[in-house]
Amino acid sequence: MNLSTKKESTKYADLGLVNTREMFKKAMAGGYAIPAYNFNNMEQLQAIIIACTESKSPVILQVSSGARKYANQTLLKFMAMGAVQMMKEMGGTVPIALHLDHGDTFELCKSCIDSGFSSVMIDGSHHAFADNIALTRKVVEYAHSRDVTVEAELGVLAGVEDDVSAEVSHYTKPEEVEEFVGQTGVDSLAISIGTSHGAYKFKLKPGEEVPALRFDILAEIERKIPGFPIVLHGASSVVPEYVEIINRNGGKLDNAVGVPEDQLRRAAKSAVCKINIDSDGRLAITATIRKVFTESPGEFDPRKYLGPAREELIKMIKHKNLNVVGSANKL
Ligand SMILES: [Zn+2]
Repeated sequence: MNLSTKKESTKYADLGLVNTREMFKKAMAGGYAIPAYNFNNMEQLQAIIIACTESKSPVILQVSSGARKYANQTLLKFMAMGAVQMMKEMGGTVPIALHLDHGDTFELCKSCIDSGFSSVMIDGSHHAFADNIALTRKVVEYAHSRDVTVEAELGVLAGVEDDVSAEVSHYTKPEEVEEFVGQTGVDSLAISIGTSHGAYKFKLKPGEEVPALRFDILAEIERKIPGFPIVLHGASSVVPEYVEIINRNGGKLDNAVGVPEDQLRRAAKSAVCKINIDSDGRLAITATIRKVFTESPGEFDPRKYLGPAREELIKMIKHKNLNVVGSANKL
């Protein structure tokens, strides 16, 4: 096994990981989506592995470039390998992919592929259509030569997420998807149909309801590229209970709103094969830690607040797998 941290590259199969091809095929046929959970520390990774092993759900471990800088890329690689071993020791048979979230350059995607990622996203959505195609195709060529799968994006999501931010969203144009997929050879496509990044997804006036996702655009895209895996970013529900606990315990998250879970469930039954959940995990952790600090101000052992936060995250992920994306018991 080549686990060198220097020049030679690491193959994802040596880390026990799989690419997303088979997962998406099964999800498409079964009418559910694969959850992609972001992580950048040990407790998050433990929670994802425990919850997905116990709920028998395939999973995509998702790392942004910001997370890669935060956690150290070498440590991340070994954490992913450790996660696979931990799952096996728990008696699990969960397929685990390690995916780069919002790669913005060919070099970053290549670096992740060479360090053991089994899947990468190249996000050229802010470029002109032709440039997005050219950049995506370049990444696809390199990735496919190593059997790594690639996600691309058409349309722009509003909101802020690590290094990605946009003021306004631009819905994906259904008339562009066929050419884009055909020209790039990409494996899955992130689209913009009304979701957005972060905890403030919609600016609502008092009494106003969250607007529905644009299922008409999704249906039109499905007609253009039948059976092709679609990805939803910015798909946290910004769980109101967590926002309330945070605000009750000294936090300040005014008007934080997400995508209602019933809309995500509906999307998961369609060609949407991957649903990204990041903000909800952050909120679960923050809510729990704030509560512990309020109730036990003398506590200073990190295990006494990170432990309960991890427990809450496990509970949340199991709920998402079972009731939102529908991936529980789909091994
Ligand atoms: Zn995203």
